[in-house]
Amino acid sequence: MSQDSNPPDDSSEDRDDDLPREHFGSGSHTSSSQSTSRGSPRVGRPAGDETSPDPKKRPLGPWRKAGIGALALAVVGGGLFFFVIPQYVDRSKNGLYPLTTENIHLPVPPLHKDLFVADLHADTLLWNRDILKESHFGHWDVPRMVKGNGALQTLSVVTKSPKGQNYERNSGDTDALTTLMVAQRWPVATWSSLKQRAFHQSQKVKEAVVAAEGQLIWIQKKQDLEELRLARAEDSSVVGVWLSLEGSQALEDSLDAIDEFQSWGYRMMAPTHFFDTAWAGSRHGEGKGGLTEKGREWLRRLEEKSIIIDGAHASEATLRDLLKYATKPFLISHGGVKAVCDNNRNLSDEMLKAVAQKGGLIGVGFWSDATCGKSVASVVNSITYLVKLIGADSVALGSDFDGYVSSPIDAADLGQITAQLQKVGVPEPTIRKVMGENVYQFLLKHLPSEPAGVTDETELLESEDAGN
Ligand SMILES: [Zn+2]
Repeated sequence: MSQDSNPPDDSSEDRDDDLPREHFGSGSHTSSSQSTSRGSPRVGRPAGDETSPDPKKRPLGPWRKAGIGALALAVVGGGLFFFVIPQYVDRSKNGLYPLTTENIHLPVPPLHKDLFVADLHADTLLWNRDILKESHFGHWDVPRMVKGNGALQTLSVVTKSPKGQNYERNSGDTDALTTLMVAQRWPVATWSSLKQRAFHQSQKVKEAVVAAEGQLIWIQKKQDLEELRLARAEDSSVVGVWLSLEGSQALEDSLDAIDEFQSWGYRMMAPTHFFDTAWAGSRHGEGKGGLTEKGREWLRRLEEKSIIIDGAHASEATLRDLLKYATKPFLISHGGVKAVCDNNRNLSDEMLKAVAQKGGLIGVGFWSDATCGKSVASVVNSITYLVKLIGADSVALGSDFDGYVSSPIDAADLGQITAQLQKVGVPEPTIRKVMGENVYQFLLKHLPSEPAGVTDETELLESEDAGN
């Protein structure tokens, strides 16, 4: 399928476009001249045609056979494209590392049930899974979060991914996600608009919150956090989610779009993802520069609106600018420690210390490029290194569940982290902080206290029209 971001013209008779929809099974989509020459019974054959006295038994002509063959191929191709391949990609790219002598499962200690467990990064909304139903692939959904005693999940929203994406150098000229959006049958508006992709994913959260009937709380302000804590004291199957934007390319260069994103529930934004944006340089971009002039205005507006900054994927220069210009702490939602695992994705000790000293948090990733290992032990190794380096108050979990990476565990096994932390002798107060208390306290401090933006469900529904 073409990577072209323009949606196909609905009026065209392109057969791929027609197949999954109204023409499937209608039998005829041919021009009148073809119909006449092929003698279609539907268009009224002349009486007494000697080549096929009985239309029901008439042998198929070569053109008709070819047409049926092409249609069958297109049906099969369309079925694969729309219904098999997206799930195959999800299943194969968001996998689990095999259990090995290093990647073992420990008994979960009773302490785990007593923790407030929070994770700073999951890309689950990118995939066509119902987050309220337990899936047997991928990493995160509400039922598995409940099994793992998870309390609060950051749902990060990806809107664009360069073809051949890598940690070293990417341009923003190409996008591998368009095909995924089309194949997953997302609304046509999402095919060409990054903003619409962000809007669509926020709608998925809204719909899930309504359907969950109280089991899922959308955290948008301080009071929601308190509500979550109270609700969980009564019923530990209540889960909180909050929304973050992975890369401000989705603002489509408009500062005013920040207001819309706020009204769609976004409470955290990263300036960049894998390529440089109008706002800042990415550590995987071409220029790797700092905040642009416009980016400084972006920062000012986000701080004014109590939208938290995520420095994950930001270039060194951007991080230095954030340290210099941000008046509030910011966090790194998912990443690794360069001293433990040396690559261009992970942060130096100097940078980790600076983010922590400003009051920020570091979410430790679970995937192998974050920790240079494929086990819970390797995740915990990075956590203990960080705790020694920057203190227990600045460390958190940043799994990158469902982020096109494999993981040693899914959300159902979050207790494995607690078990391993305990196994290597991390004291209980530190375990409590790292497993989620730090995230809770950070959000309690930095989320808005008033319902900034739209929180009422009806208003959210009405705002759908504004998402152009
Ligand atoms: Zn990421």
